[in-house]
Amino acid sequence: MKRTITKSQISDAVEEAYNDCKSISGGVNAHYIPYLANVDSNLFGITVTLPSGETYGFGDTEYRFGIESVSKVPTAILAMRQQSPQAVLDKIGADATGLPFNSIFAILLENDHPSTPLVNAGAITACSMISPNGDSEGKWKAITDNITDLCGSAPELIDELYKSESETNFNNRAIAWLLKNYNRIYDDVTMSLDLYTRQCSLGITTSQLAAMAATIASGGRNPLTGKQIFCPDISARITSLIATVGFYEHTGDWLYTSGIPAKSGVGGGVLGVLPGKMGIAAFAPPLDDAGNSVKAQSAVKAVVSKLGLGIFESDPVEIV
Ligand code: GLU
Repeated sequence: MKRTITKSQISDAVEEAYNDCKSISGGVNAHYIPYLANVDSNLFGITVTLPSGETYGFGDTEYRFGIESVSKVPTAILAMRQQSPQAVLDKIGADATGLPFNSIFAILLENDHPSTPLVNAGAITACSMISPNGDSEGKWKAITDNITDLCGSAPELIDELYKSESETNFNNRAIAWLLKNYNRIYDDVTMSLDLYTRQCSLGITTSQLAAMAATIASGGRNPLTGKQIFCPDISARITSLIATVGFYEHTGDWLYTSGIPAKSGVGGGVLGVLPGKMGIAAFAPPLDDAGNSVKAQSAVKAVVSKLGLGIFESDPVEIV
């Protein structure tokens, strides 16, 4: 028999998760990007959006924080939309590196491809794949229009963060040129790196990220606008990428303990996808040693466990 979960149970679970996690301490803000080091460490918000569009949010859900690595998700989707899932597999790959997000060693080990669009190397390659080729502003418009479609509202560039990242991204410069060496940059190197840095500097809210996650969970249909953004096949592909590498070198531990494919960013955001069920987003700046938000990961995990909705659960569930 199918287990049923009501929308009010979902709303209660999100509120309880918020209350249970709001006093969790531990972790430190990302210190290698000066802007992020200075964000208020007490900010915390969580939002759930259902395929039917209902949204439940608690805490600082309208605060715009740096999207950082979570931006790798929409740009991987865009590369799949503009080219194809196969092109992303061929030109980037879909394997976890098992190494930190900014690893140079991972590129050397793989030798000829950047492994996955959800680590720095693969994300810089993904930016180089975006059309129109050779046109920085055209590419930027495509990247931000895609995020706007996925969220149902526009992100905003945080100029100070962009400046802060551009002045300190020496490791990413090394990655970009190493990729060029392996013929894995498909446009101008400096432009591709700049687009990557700019997309990481977009300000986004948990409300927006939950809508993006719900669009992925709903086969590419944005539940807030009703617009079909991409074909359902891309949902399965991007969710598999998120599942294999979303929490960097802690991804296995994360999936084992939480049951939800999720992508984190060093701005403190986490985007989680429960296919066919819901999108979840949480945000709190202090990070663990792998770069994942301590409080946001606890809150996302709490929602999934309270509702028994992990993707590996075998009992059929219906949200009514
Ligand atoms: N802009 C950051 C970097 O390139 C993003 C890292 C992250 O969120 O994992 O280092």
